[in-house]
Amino acid sequence: MICRKCQKIESVYHRVYSGEYLCKKCFMRSIENKTAKTISRYSMIGYGDRVVVGVSGGKDSLSLLYVLKMLFDQHPNNGNELVGITIDEGIKGYRDESLQIVKDFCQQLGVESKVLSYKSLFEVDMDEAMVLRPSEKMSSCSMCGTLRRRAIDIAAETLDADVVATAHNVDDQLQTFMINMLAGDVERIGWIYPEPVKYASGMKKVKPFIEIYEYEIAFYALQREIPFQSEECPYMNESIRTDLREFLNKLERDHPGIKHSAYNSMMKISRVLRSRQSTEGKKCSICRHDSTGDICSVCQTINVLTSNKQI
Ligand SMILES: [Zn+2]
Ligand SMILES: [Zn+2]
Repeated sequence: MICRKCQKIESVYHRVYSGEYLCKKCFMRSIENKTAKTISRYSMIGYGDRVVVGVSGGKDSLSLLYVLKMLFDQHPNNGNELVGITIDEGIKGYRDESLQIVKDFCQQLGVESKVLSYKSLFEVDMDEAMVLRPSEKMSSCSMCGTLRRRAIDIAAETLDADVVATAHNVDDQLQTFMINMLAGDVERIGWIYPEPVKYASGMKKVKPFIEIYEYEIAFYALQREIPFQSEECPYMNESIRTDLREFLNKLERDHPGIKHSAYNSMMKISRVLRSRQSTEGKKCSICRHDSTGDICSVCQTINVLTSNKQI
C-alpha cells in the first residue's frame, strides 16, 4: 500500500480506525502534529514557559520529551525551556536501567535532567512500602501514584517550572476513567479533563499526548529509534489497570475506533465535572500542599507506612 498522505512512499502503518495508510515520515509527522494541536487547543504551553517533563524511561515519556524538544527547536522565538525529571521510586533491579537510559537520552537531546527519589523526599522507598503496608488493599500502584504526583510537584517547585508535562495517553486516561467509575470516585473524573490545572503558584499541569493511542506512541518510539526501557515494573500486576488495559485493547481490536468514541464520552463527562469543582483548594494541615481533605493523600499514605515501621 502506498502512503495516503504523500502518495509516494510505501506505507509502514495502517491506522485501522481511520483507514489511513502512512509511510514512516507521514506517520511520525501525524503524531507530532497531533501533539502540537492538542497543546494549542488546550493552551497547555505559553510563551517563555519553562516546561518540566516527568520522564520515567518508558516509551511514552521519552517520546514526549523528544516531540517537545523538536517543537521548541522549531519555534526558538517562543523562548521555551525544557527539563527532564525522573522519580526514583526505589525499586531494586528495575529503576537503575531506566535512570541510565534517561540520562543518556537527555544528554543526546541536550536537555537538562534531574533525579529525585522517594527515599530523599518521604524517607521510605517502594520496596520498603511494599513490606510496611498494612494490607494488599493498599495497592502498589495507588501508593506509588500518590507519591509520584507529590514528588513531581516538589520537583516542579524546586526547578521553578511554569508547566509540568506528563505523557498520559488515551489509554491511560480511559483506564483512569473506568477505575474511578468502578470505585465510585466520580468527582475524580473531573481531573481527567485536559484543560490545564492551575495551582496557586501559577504552575500548570498538562498532558500533551492525551489524544494519542498508546500503541501509536510505541510505534512512534520505534520509528524514531528512541531507546526505552521495555521491562515493566515488578509491582504493576496488582493494579486493576492491567485488566482494564487488556479489556480496552481487546475491544479496540474487535471494534476499531471504540477507544476514540469512549474518549469523547469521557471528555464530555469530565468537562462537566471539572466545571463544578471549586478552584479554591484547601491546604493539608501537615505538609501545606493542596488537598481535598484536612490531611492530603500523601501524608495519609506516609502516616500509615511509618506507623508500621515503628512497631
Ligand atoms: Zn507518506
Ligand atoms: Zn499533606
